[in-house]
Amino acid sequence: HTKSTGRNGYHFFEASMNTNAHKQLQVIQDLRLALERKEFCLHYQPKFNTQDGVVIGAEALLRWQHPTRGMIAPDDFIALAEKTGLIVPIGEWVLDEACRQMRIWHDEGNKHWKVAVNLSAVQFSNDHLIERVQTTLARNGLPASGLMLEVTESTAMHDVEASLTILDKLANMGIDIAIDDFGTGYSSLLYLKRLPASELKIDRGFIHDLAQGSGNSSIVAAIVALGRTLNLRIVAEGVETEEQQEYLTMLGCDTLQGYLMGRPVAPDQFMNTIRAVVS
Ligand code: C2E
Ligand code: MG
Ligand code: MG
Ligand code: MG
Repeated sequence: HTKSTGRNGYHFFEASMNTNAHKQLQVIQDLRLALERKEFCLHYQPKFNTQDGVVIGAEALLRWQHPTRGMIAPDDFIALAEKTGLIVPIGEWVLDEACRQMRIWHDEGNKHWKVAVNLSAVQFSNDHLIERVQTTLARNGLPASGLMLEVTESTAMHDVEASLTILDKLANMGIDIAIDDFGTGYSSLLYLKRLPASELKIDRGFIHDLAQGSGNSSIVAAIVALGRTLNLRIVAEGVETEEQQEYLTMLGCDTLQGYLMGRPVAPDQFMNTIRAVVS
């Protein structure tokens, strides 16, 4: 340490480091127990067909109901779960729970719905992924067509040959693949063309300050054109205003997802959420 920080400065710094490190250790400890203690839950956000407003399914989004810290958002613990490898058992729970819930909705008459589950890069490179997905579908009696798996553009493009192998297997099982957060990674168009994906989800960042004439609107228009060429559905996520909705519809996005049409909600609130939009 440097002299200029002074004795107290140094001690203060050291103390806060310890606090942060301690906090992180505590979170890791808590994460290890969270599955046993059933502290995770999934919220579901509806996805709507742009042309007719019909619900085509929902994205399952992980939440952690911490006993003392309250509801924790995935951005605040997924990275730690990845670093510790805990994302693998947590991800298995997510997949199982999402399939179980979608089977219920299918049985209630929504047979065409798909549940979209996010896969982290760590799960994606796990050797058991294919087999786990297969057994989870079977255990829940959900047809493969009821499941969509979302991988981010960065994950899919990290090791493109490996991604192609895994995604081809999943697609051959009849599972839909979505490329999430599209526009934030570095896609090779040649590989994008070879990926067996059915959906591109435009990153929220491009939707946020979308307005006629802005740079983002040209980017969205270009992604829509790319989607047409590659025969991919284009999903806009993070739709918050009617202006954005109208504009994205005009630009030709196939599917819309966002707070405007429905926030992520617990499964028992899902029907009410979509009824409010569709009726
Ligand atoms: P994502 O997959 O891109 O999910 C979309 C995120 O945007 C969600 O945040 C959703 O709540 C949020 N969102 C949707 N519509 C709007 C809107 O209109 N405005 C705004 N401001 N936000 C909107 P969430 O639930 O906090 O999840 C964040 C990220 O955490 C997800 O981004 C995904 O990468 C990751 N994640 C969530 N659940 C899981 C999971 O089960 N497994 C893994 N590996 N990652 C997950
Ligand atoms: Mg997603
Ligand atoms: Mg996304
Ligand atoms: Mg994301």
